[in-house]
Amino acid sequence: MLQTAVHYCLHFLAIGLIAYFYDKQHWKKAWLILIATMAVDIDHIFATPLFDPTRCGIGYHPLHSEIAILGYIIGAIVIRNKLIKLIFIGLLFHMFTDLIDCLWTFSKCETCYIQSKIYEWMALFKN
Ligand SMILES: [Zn+2]
Repeated sequence: MLQTAVHYCLHFLAIGLIAYFYDKQHWKKAWLILIATMAVDIDHIFATPLFDPTRCGIGYHPLHSEIAILGYIIGAIVIRNKLIKLIFIGLLFHMFTDLIDCLWTFSKCETCYIQSKIYEWMALFKN
């Protein structure tokens, strides 16, 4: 319950703060753009089952893959167009929000961690 509340607070409210600091004059428009980046979750339609509370979406869904995340990082850094840059920031923050949710789930479910892509990525850094 608390986990879900924090997750959606980050997805909807925290991005309001990002919008405010990104463009104080047009923060409402920036906020709407950031909310629109939630559409990245459209990639969940390819998953079976569609929703699984024990599954970590990071690295699992195509638009949440390591390649996609790398693209969001690069886009947020190098893109000069203010609107497109904001979209990349929104996508990156979305991944951060999902990651927090994954870590929270892992703290209660070790199997969830072991079955996740994050576990595979962490194994790359061992040895
Ligand atoms: Zn997501």
